[in-house]
Amino acid sequence: MRFPVHIATDMIAWQLRNWWRGNTRYPSVLMLEPLHTCNLACLGCSPERYSGDLKDRLSLEQCLEAVDDAGAPVVSICGGEPTIYPELPELIDAIVARKRHIYLCTNGLLLERFYKRGRPHKRLSINVHLDGMRATHDLITDRPGTFDRAIEMIKEGKRRGYAVCTNTTIFRETSMDEIEEMCELLTGLGVDGMLISPGYHYAAIAEDRFLHRDETHRQFQRVLELSKRYPISSTPLFLQFAAGQRDYPCTPWGTPTRTPKGWKGPCYLIEGKYYGSWKEFWGGVDWSYWESRQDPRCQNCFMHSGFEPSVVRKLRESPRDMWTMAKWNFLS
Ligand code: SF4
Repeated sequence: MRFPVHIATDMIAWQLRNWWRGNTRYPSVLMLEPLHTCNLACLGCSPERYSGDLKDRLSLEQCLEAVDDAGAPVVSICGGEPTIYPELPELIDAIVARKRHIYLCTNGLLLERFYKRGRPHKRLSINVHLDGMRATHDLITDRPGTFDRAIEMIKEGKRRGYAVCTNTTIFRETSMDEIEEMCELLTGLGVDGMLISPGYHYAAIAEDRFLHRDETHRQFQRVLELSKRYPISSTPLFLQFAAGQRDYPCTPWGTPTRTPKGWKGPCYLIEGKYYGSWKEFWGGVDWSYWESRQDPRCQNCFMHSGFEPSVVRKLRESPRDMWTMAKWNFLS
C-alpha cells in the first residue's frame, strides 16, 4: 500500500466533505514555511529566499493559525530548514492534536537534534531531501558529506520507529541510472516512500540546470518505469503527466503556502504577491488565470505541488483513472 490507510481515508473524507458543501476549490496540503533560515545554500535555490534571519520566523501561534485557516488534512513543514525552528516539537505536537498529517521536509543535517526532542507518531512522516547518490547530492547541496549524513539520519529515523520518506528533484544533468541506483539503495533501507519531482525551468531563473518540457517528458518516462518496481509515492497519473502521456490544468489552490512574509500567491514556486491574511489571499489570487497555465512561467512546470491536486480533482471524471489510482494505492 503506497499511502497508509489513515492518510488515504482522511484525504477521501476531506474530498467528500468539500463536495457535500459545494466547494469547488479547497486546499489539500498546507505548505508551511515557519522560517527562511537554512544551513545549506543548494545550487538553484535563491539566496535571498533562504538566507533569512531566524528572528524573522513565524511564531508558533501564527503557524497554528495558518493550519486552522487552510483546514487542509496534510501539513508539509518546509522552509528554510525546519529542524532549525526552535519550536518544532511543540509545533508538531499541536498539529497532531488537530488530527492533521505532517510531512517534515528536511535536509537531515540536524535531524538528530529533532530526534532527541521529538517522538514518533503515526501522523508524522520525516521527508529527507536527497537529489541522487553521493557525488550528485553533495554537488547540488554544495557541501561534501551531506549525502552520508542524510543516509545516516534515514537509518536512525527508521531505527527509532519513524515513517521516513525521501524527496528528490530531477535536474537537467541527473542520470536516470543513478536515480535507479538511489531507488535500490533507499528501498533496501526500508523507506516508506520516495517522491520524485522535476526541477523546472522558467525565464526568471538564470541557471540552466532546470528541465524544459521535452526533457521532463524524457526523464519521467524512466521514472514511470521505476515506479513499477520501487515505492515511488508520486501517483501514476501524475507520472504519466510528467512523461507527456496526459495533460492537466494546474491546481495551485490545492497547496497554499504560508511563509514569514505572508500567504504566497499564486503558488509554491512563483513569488507573485504576499498577502497578510488567509481571506485576502484566498479571495485575492486570480485562480482561473493560474489554473489555465497561460502565464509564461507556467509553460515548463510539472511540479507535483501544482499537479498532484489536479490528479485528485479530475479523478471523478474517469472511472478508469479511479481504478488506476485504487490499484496503485491499495494493491501495489
Ligand atoms: S503551473 Fe506551476 S508555476 Fe504555474 S501556477 Fe501552477 S504550480 Fe505555479
